[in-house]
Amino acid sequence: MTVKMTVNDFIQYFNQTKDRIYKEKDYVTELDSATGDGDHWVNVNKGFEQITSGLKDAPADLTFVDLFKNIGMTMFSSVGGSSGALYGSGYVAASKICKEKKYIHELDVHALYDVYHAILVEMMKRGKTEPGQKTMVDSLYSALQAYQEAMDAEKSEKEIIMAFIKGANDGAQATREMAAVKGRASYRTDKGIGHLDPGAITMAMQLESLGKYILNKE
Ligand code: ADP
Ligand code: MG
Repeated sequence: MTVKMTVNDFIQYFNQTKDRIYKEKDYVTELDSATGDGDHWVNVNKGFEQITSGLKDAPADLTFVDLFKNIGMTMFSSVGGSSGALYGSGYVAASKICKEKKYIHELDVHALYDVYHAILVEMMKRGKTEPGQKTMVDSLYSALQAYQEAMDAEKSEKEIIMAFIKGANDGAQATREMAAVKGRASYRTDKGIGHLDPGAITMAMQLESLGKYILNKE
């Protein structure tokens, strides 16, 4: 198996993920009601609805630069809460790295890492947050750490993507024991300890969906 993601693959990934997120309404809302204000699912679900409807008439020659820029602007303009700003700036950063590194129509295993790393760095900057502070950053950070370790160990591309999925889910589960430093859970006296972070869970759902799309593509 070789990682080779085209713009069209990403559009299909967004469509599949929209369906996945849609089904998780009760679970995600329950999580954000426990430690936040209960709107996280509404925000993320709206984001995916807007992204996928905006991509319906995407031109066949759409580049990654424009794809990620459009998605970033969509998240900024139509999604409320912390999620809109964080994913918005993350995808704009993804567009910038694609432009800089000339990732135009295809992402291989290294390019895919670069894109998600750019999203992570920008989310940390925008959110003024670091891994370990009980946010959506935790699953992405853990996924990319596993990805990097698997690449360094010269694992196969299939193993790299499997490590990425596991890293995402492990990172999300690890938020249960973390004390929130950022976001609404940080206003609580218990800092949300004992509860999963909703943003980390939906981030892991997206990363798992991406990984599974890649694994099933072959
Ligand atoms: P809001 O907190 O404005 O209601 P959402 O409910 O859409 O926004 O998103 C909540 C999620 O956003 C949290 O679970 C957390 O993962 C993430 N989050 C909140 N603040 C930050 C931050 N400063 N940096 C990174 N992620 C954050
Ligand atoms: Mg909320």
